[in-house]
Amino acid sequence: MPPEPVTRFAPSPTGPLHLGHAYAALIAAERAGAGRFLLRIEDIDQSRCRPEWEAQIYEDLTWLGLRWESPVMRQSERLPVYRAALEQLAAQGLIYPCRCTRADIRAALSAPQEGAPLGPDGVTYPGTCRARPMSDAGREDALRLNMGAALAHVGALGFMENGPVHPGHHRLDRDWLCDVAGDVVLARRDMGTSYHLSVVLDDAAQGITEVTRGADLFEATPIHVLLQALLQLPAPSYYHHDLIRDEHGKRLAKRDDARAIALYRAEGMTPGRLRQMLTQPVAS
Ligand code: GLU
Repeated sequence: MPPEPVTRFAPSPTGPLHLGHAYAALIAAERAGAGRFLLRIEDIDQSRCRPEWEAQIYEDLTWLGLRWESPVMRQSERLPVYRAALEQLAAQGLIYPCRCTRADIRAALSAPQEGAPLGPDGVTYPGTCRARPMSDAGREDALRLNMGAALAHVGALGFMENGPVHPGHHRLDRDWLCDVAGDVVLARRDMGTSYHLSVVLDDAAQGITEVTRGADLFEATPIHVLLQALLQLPAPSYYHHDLIRDEHGKRLAKRDDARAIALYRAEGMTPGRLRQMLTQPVAS
């Protein structure tokens, strides 16, 4: 028998939940089916997260008719786990401290406007600090993965995509990881972790069998699959959903507060009607 599905919805409490979030949450719950649907609060960026937004998340999801298990995982409570993983990668010689600012990176790229590759995290890091040892790491440093060294540690890797956008099995493209994704940041300055590192460790800790999220994060997946292999974590399958669009066919921005679920609720919308709005294709 296949394992019971375990999925999660992982919002950041940096603003109100909007239609895009509701869509993502409903898909995660639907993909869990009779399995388990979990919630995770992605609050590593404490400068942007607020307790009132977290409270609003619980309220909006409950209103939508969703139920999840307690206790909810909160990334801000897991810094020791992230630190231990970084120590593991450091012991393998796979991470290094980096003090480059965005301006330093731009300056180091010969022709940033023309043809500089753009990875999932922006312009590809030129490797300026790659030779710095971890013994040199201080509070002002971010920690980056040495992508070339990391790839030398693993064999061929891939992942199963169950979503509608890029269905099928995907082999990891090592050249793309090296030359485009590059030496991604695993711990942001003064934060002790990053989106990539936390998401991989948390999905493993929550026993997620299928990661559901927007197609905008599809390019981050090879980085996550590589980290799972380096940290010897189980490999979930993936379901990247399409991104919902407004009535003009324009993608809804993550920060579009005009689409806040709370606003629809205040205007008297029912959960059933909102669900219907999200599942019906937009008329062109
Ligand atoms: N916290 C991320 C977001 O709000 C989702 C991360 C993920 O699902 O991997 O977009």
